[in-house]
Amino acid sequence: MPNDLYEKRREQMFPRLTKAQVARLEPHGHHLATTAGQLLMEPGDREAKMFVVLTGSLYVEIPGGEEQVLYPLGPGDFAGEMSTLRGVPGFAFVHVNEPGEVLVIRDSELRLIVQTDAEISEIFMRAFILRRMGLIASPNSEMTLIGSRYCGHTLHLREFLTRNAYPHFYLDVEVDEDAKRQLQRVGLTANDVPAVIGRDGRAVRKASLREVADFVEINPELDESQVHDVIVVGAGPAGLAGAVYAASEGLNVRVIDSFAPGGQAGSSSRIENYLGFPTGISGQALAGRAVVQSQKFGARFNVACDAVQLHCDQWPYRIELADGRIARTRAVIIATGAQYRKPELSNLAKYAGTGVYYAATHLEGKLCQNDEAIVVGGGNSAGQAAVFLSGGCRHVHILVRSDGLAESMSHYLIRRIEETPNITLHTRTRISGLEGEYELERVTWTNDRTGDRETRPIRHVFLMTGAAPNTEWLKSCVNLDEKGFVRTGSDLSAEELKDARWPLSRPPYLMETSLPGVFAVGDVRSGSVKRIASAVGEGSVCVQFVHRTLRELAAVLG
Ligand SMILES: Cc1cc2nc3c(=O)[nH]c(=O)nc-3n(C[C@H](O)[C@H](O)[C@H](O)COP(=O)(O)OP(=O)(O)OC[C@H]3O[C@@H](n4cnc5c(N)ncnc54)[C@H](O)[C@@H]3O)c2cc1C
Repeated sequence: MPNDLYEKRREQMFPRLTKAQVARLEPHGHHLATTAGQLLMEPGDREAKMFVVLTGSLYVEIPGGEEQVLYPLGPGDFAGEMSTLRGVPGFAFVHVNEPGEVLVIRDSELRLIVQTDAEISEIFMRAFILRRMGLIASPNSEMTLIGSRYCGHTLHLREFLTRNAYPHFYLDVEVDEDAKRQLQRVGLTANDVPAVIGRDGRAVRKASLREVADFVEINPELDESQVHDVIVVGAGPAGLAGAVYAASEGLNVRVIDSFAPGGQAGSSSRIENYLGFPTGISGQALAGRAVVQSQKFGARFNVACDAVQLHCDQWPYRIELADGRIARTRAVIIATGAQYRKPELSNLAKYAGTGVYYAATHLEGKLCQNDEAIVVGGGNSAGQAAVFLSGGCRHVHILVRSDGLAESMSHYLIRRIEETPNITLHTRTRISGLEGEYELERVTWTNDRTGDRETRPIRHVFLMTGAAPNTEWLKSCVNLDEKGFVRTGSDLSAEELKDARWPLSRPPYLMETSLPGVFAVGDVRSGSVKRIASAVGEGSVCVQFVHRTLRELAAVLG
């Protein structure tokens, strides 16, 4: 049976195009005569295309589980999904039911349609988004992730698939009976988790992040000979905004992120101070919308993909990726943000994902239902995490080194913390010990004012403690401040520009680094306001300077 979403939103999920709309699509595709029983497409097909039914009928089959899900399509209906727009393999079989004719539209033409025909764009985009939501909600899935709640890497992989909106089924070897059966089916055991298993029997044991990304073919191809107009490194709010504006203004854009879209904001359960969302929005929902928006305009995303070195000895610039591939580009938007500093505890890494967390989304929230939890940090992210967790946890302890929250946290959050009975603030307090055989079992904290130490049976610690910039990959290419953040615009002195061999007669534009055509936006930028709205603002604004430098650099360096 189709899932609830299908029942409720059938009209929007499977809208029928009018004759006039189909006529507008004609120049973008070619006609294909169909025969009954013909298979037009199957999961994993590399050639991304969609079908508009002209005559006859099709049915779309979502495979998996015990029951197949079938969607009938008649004249004016269309088959296609977010993966078609992205140019990556999809999840469905498309069969011919009654013979007739279809219009076949390739992914490149589809992107052109959604960028140029507002009416059809709205119909397609809404249908594709809802179809993806339907796939995510469906118990049928192309791929199953089998892991263990005691394995931090399992949580990391679950976050990766969830934040990339990739439909999957999760089984935990510790609690799900079916997990061991599924592992046996492909010759694996519980010692092989986390493992990914495809419907076709393909399996990867002890899967790394990159292996999972390759397994699900989530990334579009990267042609190393192609020179992009702009590569955005980092898909947090700043990078996503840069991608939306650059792609919508016709630039050839690729976004590279070492994990998934959303950045730090993606790990926030509820953002309440972002313009236009009075009831708040989760970072993941905000990022998901921005990704779809930028993909609509043609931006391409490579995730689980680390930039390890910017090569700036030649123009166009080259960005080296962790797997050795090179991406070439005329302009770069550095949006690699920052990451939480980690307290100096010798066994901290042992508990990553099995008691120590750096995000407080619903995934982590479920893990500590009815338990006590500690949130370390006095910033807004810590405040949000504490308030969110207090909804499901028995008690939440906030630990800060300072005397209070007033200087580091927004007033509305401080008030909410004060009004929540199951949150306790511990000032001048830090974690001094973590213990547990396989997972975190006990935490010791020390009050720096009194020297008192206390050990408690607490199994969940959320670290939200100040940020350090992700700028190692820039090495000697751009000028950094004493803390490693990227200096831009008028913050660069004449001497610094001279040291950097700035080649142009004009000074750097706003947000331009000491390397022409290379911009830094959001949290990674020296002096930036560490907020989502400012990151989004900077990412959008810098695009106008990207345009200017592309013209200039072609003349000066080209
Ligand atoms: C839990 C939490 C809640 C928050 N809540 C709020 C809030 O309510 N309101 C608010 O205004 N702000 C909030 N913030 C702060 C806000 O999220 C940040 O200011 C914002 O995300 C910064 O955006 P950014 O794009 O500059 O960088 P980031 O969000 O840090 O994104 C950087 C991206 O770059 C990627 N990356 C890093 N290095 C590389 C590399 N070498 N190669 C490829 N990719 C790389 C990372 O994977 C990441 O996706 C919160 C932060 C956190 C952690």
